[in-house]
Amino acid sequence: MFLRSEGRSGPGSGGARYVHRGSSPHGAGAYAGAVTDTVEAPADPAAATQRELPHDPATAPDAEARQSRRGGWKLMREVAGANKRWTVIGISASLFWTLAKIVIPLLALGAIDEGIDPYDGQALAFWSGLIVLATAIVGGMSYLRRYSAFAISLKAEAELRRRLFDHLQRLHFGYHDRAQIGELMARVSTDAKQVQLLLVFIPIFGANILMIVGVSIVLFALNAQLAAAALASLPLLFLGAWRFSSLLHPVAMGLQQRLAAVSHVVEESLSGIRVVKGFGAEDLQVRELGNAADGVYDRGIALARLRATFNPLLEVLPTVGLVAVLWVGGRQVIDGNLSVAALIAFNSYILQLVFPLRMTSFIVAQVSRASASASRLHEILATDPEIVERKDAVTLPEGSGELRFEGVTFGYHHDRPVLRDLDLVIKAGESVALVGPTGAGKSTVARLVPRFYDVDDGRLLVDGVDVRDLRLSDLRDAVAMVFEDTFLFTDTVRANIAFADDDAEDAAVEAAARLAGGHDFVADLPEGYDTMLGEHGFSLSGGQRQRVAIARAIVANPRVLILDDATSSVDPTKEHEIRGALGEVMRGRTTIIIAHRPATIALADRVILLDHGKVAVEGTHEELLRTSPRYRAVLAQAAARDEAKPEAGAAS
Ligand code: ATP
Repeated sequence: MFLRSEGRSGPGSGGARYVHRGSSPHGAGAYAGAVTDTVEAPADPAAATQRELPHDPATAPDAEARQSRRGGWKLMREVAGANKRWTVIGISASLFWTLAKIVIPLLALGAIDEGIDPYDGQALAFWSGLIVLATAIVGGMSYLRRYSAFAISLKAEAELRRRLFDHLQRLHFGYHDRAQIGELMARVSTDAKQVQLLLVFIPIFGANILMIVGVSIVLFALNAQLAAAALASLPLLFLGAWRFSSLLHPVAMGLQQRLAAVSHVVEESLSGIRVVKGFGAEDLQVRELGNAADGVYDRGIALARLRATFNPLLEVLPTVGLVAVLWVGGRQVIDGNLSVAALIAFNSYILQLVFPLRMTSFIVAQVSRASASASRLHEILATDPEIVERKDAVTLPEGSGELRFEGVTFGYHHDRPVLRDLDLVIKAGESVALVGPTGAGKSTVARLVPRFYDVDDGRLLVDGVDVRDLRLSDLRDAVAMVFEDTFLFTDTVRANIAFADDDAEDAAVEAAARLAGGHDFVADLPEGYDTMLGEHGFSLSGGQRQRVAIARAIVANPRVLILDDATSSVDPTKEHEIRGALGEVMRGRTTIIIAHRPATIALADRVILLDHGKVAVEGTHEELLRTSPRYRAVLAQAAARDEAKPEAGAAS
């Protein structure tokens, strides 16, 4: 079974957004949830500044940055090793490829020395045969090396994405409250890609190192003096590469950060396209994207400048080696101390070093970018979920969903409680309407029930058990939420209703839709329950979407149903159609209904007026209307807000 939760818009706009669609943090149960929620930004600016983002390793203090870099490397090692078979094949192929390449000039030397000068047809055929064999090995190994490079790196990339996505699902709401979706998407897509782009070069890079070492050994074995002259400039290369790498890392980190910023602007602008267009803010958004894109350009150019500076060194080194071989070797040939064939072999070896040396610049740059990306990925993976199931968690006992808040204190920031010492009992099967001024903490009460957040003090019991002692999958199976702004997936009506239970029979889906008052409009859709809903189901009206959401909750058959402002986006004149459905669904089921319209509130057995995180007054709707001026004032304010919302109920 699944956690049933709909998207919801907070009362304010521009608030922090969080998305959660997850599987059980412990794999113990089959919990998987889907929540998209938009939360009002804290009212005061000081609170806004506290909404820090997941920190970026580029700006982290030194020790933290080092730790994150080490973590990034460890992560790369782990994912690179995920495809062991191809890792072994890739390393072996690189080894044989390099050996064959190194041997070829030696074979040519043999052919010249023994087959050509003096001429010996048999020896020439023998050496030529060996050269053909070595070349065939080079070809075969080259295929294996490249194939394994992709097999290793693509597998690693997939593994990285899987781990990240899995971890993001498990992370608590508090994390997602602060995270920027575009930034997270950039990490899952471009950062994972950067790691792949490095890993694909690992077998080539390994072969290059082997080639440099192997060629050096052969050259020294052939002629130590000439080898020393040819390779004298190599230490300079390694020094340069080391310096290049240390300069590159922060630039690469900045580049990844700027790419994430672009991703964030695009995601936010497109998600909020209706607000952008509604306020004619397209140009502003385009300018914002331009600024973010300029950041990418600046960092990209800085990276290019560094590479361009390092490149001449790599271009020049092999030529220096060639000149040294001709100069020193030429004199040795003239003096009769070296054969022409040996000089040619030497030259061939130096030419073999050209490609590996040229690649160094690219690989060092990619190492920096991948290590920056891996650090950013590690930073997410190193964040521990705060809402975790206890090892000795118990299953939810039989019951009908009694909720008991005992002295509950909770705040999104621990120093600013939203709920203060809240005592509240909702009897099994009872429906309670939570009413209160905006920001009173009504939604917060609701979010504590499925443990989206843990209480700071006191406890919350479901059927007599503290929610922190329960198996998460049990708890979330038992609680279903319907929010104001329903999130519908790009899928059929049927799949959207059966989201909580893949195995739900068609009859169960239809029965739920009937109960939610949605069957008639679904039957009128072009393909009935098989009609695909557009992106976010926007092709349905607000009321229709709400009915799909309510049907989704019914399919889950929860012990506790939470309707968080579930009808407030529906035109008041149409609300009665949904109200009937709600009445049906709530009957005999523990329900918390957060609402502000009297007719909806009246559906509940009891009304709780919440103010400043405490129960101010309680009773039936009629009682409170008669006895509580505060209650009347809250309803009047809500009605005034409703009237000021001409677009309510319009199709989204
Ligand atoms: P409304 O009727 O306007 O929806 P509410 O009574 O449901 O309001 P809550 O959403 O529970 O109020 O919010 C209570 C307080 O907690 C508000 O001050 C709000 O700004 C703050 N708040 C809500 N969600 C978050 C969050 N995810 N992070 C930080 N603060 C939050």
